Amino acid sequence: MTTANWRPESLAAQALGWIDAKTGAVSPPIHMSSTFLRDPDNQYRTGHIYIRDDNPAFEQVEALLTKLEGGASALVFASGMAAVTSVFLAHKPGDHVLVAEHVYYGVRKWLNGFAKPWGLAVDYVDMSNLDAVKRAFRPGQTKLIWTETPANPVWTITDLAAIASIAHASGAKVAVDSTVATPVFCKPIALGVDIVMHSATKFLNGHSDICAGALITRQEDEMWERLWTIRTQLGSIIGSMEAWLLLRGMRSLFPRVQWAARSAQQLAEKLQAHPFVASVLYPGLADFPGHAIAARQMTGGFGAMLSIRVKGGETGAIRSAAHVNLWKRATSLGGTESLIEHRASIEGDASTTPKDLLRLSVGLEDAADLYDDLAAALDTGHRN
Ligand code: PLP
Repeated sequence: MTTANWRPESLAAQALGWIDAKTGAVSPPIHMSSTFLRDPDNQYRTGHIYIRDDNPAFEQVEALLTKLEGGASALVFASGMAAVTSVFLAHKPGDHVLVAEHVYYGVRKWLNGFAKPWGLAVDYVDMSNLDAVKRAFRPGQTKLIWTETPANPVWTITDLAAIASIAHASGAKVAVDSTVATPVFCKPIALGVDIVMHSATKFLNGHSDICAGALITRQEDEMWERLWTIRTQLGSIIGSMEAWLLLRGMRSLFPRVQWAARSAQQLAEKLQAHPFVASVLYPGLADFPGHAIAARQMTGGFGAMLSIRVKGGETGAIRSAAHVNLWKRATSLGGTESLIEHRASIEGDASTTPKDLLRLSVGLEDAADLYDDLAAALDTGHRN
């Protein structure tokens, strides 16, 4: 069987067209074994030794991720944060990293609380301002630019090709958290990015029932070896069951996120006209800063995440969220169910998110139902 001319949608739907040679099963078996038999001549010809090194359960999902991102290899991790922190830990104390000022708040918290005391030099910079990036770059010392696009929860857009050329001119690497864009809407490696990261807990899995992360690399180089070693030595692997669930979720990735992104676009446009919405943050809106770059580097949609800034400040936002019915008040994103969250409340003291902001993860419900429910909650929240 050849999959050479299959489009990404087909590769995902059939998880690369894999069929179990022994049984003909179209859905893969779950290998639970933590250890694997050594050959009598002392070799390990299957390539499997011990679960912390590698696991047959990872192979198919890593192969699919590699293919969808157009990379050379992929690694799955116990969580998105395990994947993120591994990239920074692959550096040495004294190395300088430039990090986007808007990133998932857990990344900033870990960098400030752990990576800086450990010896990494970390500077935050507005990645949408290329001059600021060039000024903050320290040739020779800067080893990595870390960005996220669209960036949680204000959806700032990074011009990945431009950032890659700044980094590569001085031998640094670029890594991007592409959790929100997904391989459906953006292919960072084709734009010059070296490492793509996903919180696979979100859209890749898509069903809010596992915790997982992934890295995909442009090339299998020394950095990639270090990342494999870190995963193996720290044991930040996912279990066989989680790997299976991730692959199961990825089979429906394309229709799920395309549907959700269409709804997000409709919601963003309609919410702009709501009397209690001060502004809508969504890269698909023509007047959103970074829209032109997003339109160039994303294809087929702008993702299923948006935020609204609510009139009445923090109180107005929290009171509005209190009255939703169809939307669920919960953290996280990327599941079939739509979620609403007052971000500043979960991010705590270190939060830089506006206090009047509600983050919306759009799921698979009917878009008109979602609008009606949220519009009614905004109305009730402002009346009471
Ligand atoms: N990156 C983004 C954009 C996220 O939203 C999250 C979690 O919310 C993470 C990374 C961390 O992923 P995980 O929760 O799987 O560790």
